[in-house]
Formats: sequence, C-alpha cells, structure tokens
Amino acid sequence: MLPSEPLKPSAAFADILRPTHVEVDLSRLAGNLQAICSHVGTAKVMPVLKANAYGHGLIEVAELMVKLGADYLGAAFLEEGLMLRKQGITTPILILGGLAGEQIPLFLKNSLTLTASSVDKLRLINEAAEALGTQAKVHLKIDTGMERVGVHYYSAEKLLEASLQCHSVEVEGIYSHFANADAADLSHARLQLERFQEVLQFYERRSLPLPLRHMANSAGILQLPESHLDMVRPGIMLYGIYPSPECQRTVAITPALAWRSQVSYFKVVQAGDPISYGSTWQADHPVRVVTIPAGYGDGYFRALSNKAQVLIRGRRYPVAGRVCMDQMMANIEWDSAYNGDPVTLIGTDGNETITADEVANWAGTIPYEVLTNINTRVPRVYVGRS
Ligand SMILES: *Cc1c(COP(=O)(O)O)cnc(C)c1O
Repeated sequence: MLPSEPLKPSAAFADILRPTHVEVDLSRLAGNLQAICSHVGTAKVMPVLKANAYGHGLIEVAELMVKLGADYLGAAFLEEGLMLRKQGITTPILILGGLAGEQIPLFLKNSLTLTASSVDKLRLINEAAEALGTQAKVHLKIDTGMERVGVHYYSAEKLLEASLQCHSVEVEGIYSHFANADAADLSHARLQLERFQEVLQFYERRSLPLPLRHMANSAGILQLPESHLDMVRPGIMLYGIYPSPECQRTVAITPALAWRSQVSYFKVVQAGDPISYGSTWQADHPVRVVTIPAGYGDGYFRALSNKAQVLIRGRRYPVAGRVCMDQMMANIEWDSAYNGDPVTLIGTDGNETITADEVANWAGTIPYEVLTNINTRVPRVYVGRS
C-alpha cells in the first residue's frame, strides 16, 4: 500500500512513485549559505526562495535556511510568502515582486514585508494598514537602471518624502536591483550603485536613521563587495551555481541539485531506422538505444533534442531524436545498460558530471531557467540532512 500523502519521499520511495526525481543535497545548500555569510561579513543575508526555491523545493529549503539562522527570506509573489507562513515559518519575509492593491490586507494579516514601488502603492499600503489598525513593514524599491519595478532614482525623493507622512507604515528597508552585475564590464553596475547611494543621502541630509539598505544579488555578492551594504540577496549562488560564465568566482560554492531517472526500456535499433517524433535522428549502423521516462512535460526542454547528453554507468551518451513529453531516448552505441540503471540528467555519476550550465548551453538558455523549469511533477528527494 502506498501512503496517501507522499510529501517527503525517501529516494527509494520516489523511485517507486516515479523513477525520475530531483535530489537536493541539504548539506551543500548549508555549505553555500555559510560561504556567502563569511564572504559578506557583517551584512545580513536574505536567501531568495522564489520559483520553488529555484526548483529545489520552497518549504524544505526555507526550513533549512531558518534552521541555519537566515536573517530574512525573499520570495517573488504573495502566494510564496503565504505558503511559508502556512508552514509555520516566522522569519521576516520580503516579497520582491510588484503587488496588486487588493493583496495588501493579506500581506498585513500574514506579517509579510511589502515592496513599495511607487507613491501610489505606498499610500494604498498606508491606508490598508490604518484600516486594519496595524503597522505595515515596507521596503522602498528604487529603480537605478533595471527599468522593471520601482521608483526611478531621479524621482525617488518623492517616495522617500511620502514615506515620512505614512504613519501606518514602517520603512524597514530600501533596495534596488542590478541589471548587469554578472558582466565582465561592471561600469553599468557601478553606475547603478552610485545612483542608489545618491538616493540614500536623503536620510543623511535630514539626519534620519537609514533603513536597511540592500542591492546585491549573487553577481553583486561575487563581484562588487561595495554593494553588500546592510544585506545581500543571494539566489542562484545559494544553489551552487554562478550567475554567468563571465562572473568572477570569488566564493566557492557547490551545486546542490541532481536530476536522476532510470533506464525504462532497452532495444537494438537497426541501421537507418529513425527515432522518435519527426524521425530526426538515425544511425547508419545498428545501435543500442535506451528509453528514459522523463521529458519536456517534466521540464526537460524539447530544445535539448539531439543536443543534450545524459550519464549512464558513469559515461556520457547523446539524447537521440526528439525529447517527448514523458520520455526520451539515448544512444549508447554498443555499450551495456539494463532496465533500472540510473540515468543522470544533471549531476554526477562516477567521474562524469553534467552541470546545469552545460544543459543551459545545449538548450540555448541560462541555468536559472533550467532549474526553475523542472516542474512539480518531478518528486524532490532530500539528502545530506544533518
Ligand atoms: C531573483 C532576485 C534576486 C536573486 O538573484 P540571483 O541572480 O539569483 O542571485 C535578488 N533580488 C531580486 C529583487 C530578485 O528578483
């Protein structure tokens, strides 16, 4: 009998459920957080947990971060914050994304910190807090060159000014976000930081205490120590991946995620017989071909068709033919493989490793998308628990 609620399957149980799973090594996540903390010294650290903790599983990662003493948690959307609160997590949570006015009471009732990205939003927050007889905790968002969300640095004074008049709002923090901190050329990032510093002078000019200042994402942490300020917001590097190939690797981190499956079928394919939809691949000699029960319906990009490699028995083999929704094939030439053999899509097997970077290159994207694209159909299994 299968338990009715397989929420936290062991590796073995996940294999029974589905031979394809994501394996997250919690001790590596912990090591990455510790490496970040020691690199940024006295600055606080806000692990960023949006998009299911970059595919690693929101709740498990959040619980680990809280256990390790994270000062703050960051998420993109209200619903992510609500899931964390439902789980009983009481650590401060900042929702980084833009918010809709009607969501404000839910933020307040769940003690979620709001991003005030315009004077209008700030006033709506103030009114909602007043109506509920509470204080809203807010971080002001300044756009210094990303052109996404936030008040432009050149009109920020209006927002800061308005915040002094909002008596049901506590401005706990003020932040901005880099567009190019992962580049080799850091001139735009430096310009953004300068603009942010100029906005912050408002507080000095008025002899007001500074709110918590934060700007650095992973790339800022790695490349711009002067951007660490009072708090940093690591995302991708927490999961052990560098933001870009150009970005300096000033902190040693280790990937925490492996994506595994199993051989589900083995056959010999005759010379000239094409494989999978569209018949895009065929060999001119007989080959052994294995089927793997994972596909684009799990988030393994269809763009990886005839491009990616997988690991079986510690060796690399090419994906042959189109990736299907639930299955794909790999050409093992004349090597051996048996039903049930582990297949590694991302991660290490023996002396070989396929990184998320490599998969991203094959698919023409970035590792962020590779990780966040692994969808919830794939069970997450946690190892390295201390
Ligand atoms: C996603 C995000 C981060 C983390 O970015 P990484 O490049 O993954 O470190 C930090 N701050 C904000 C506002 C974000 O949206």
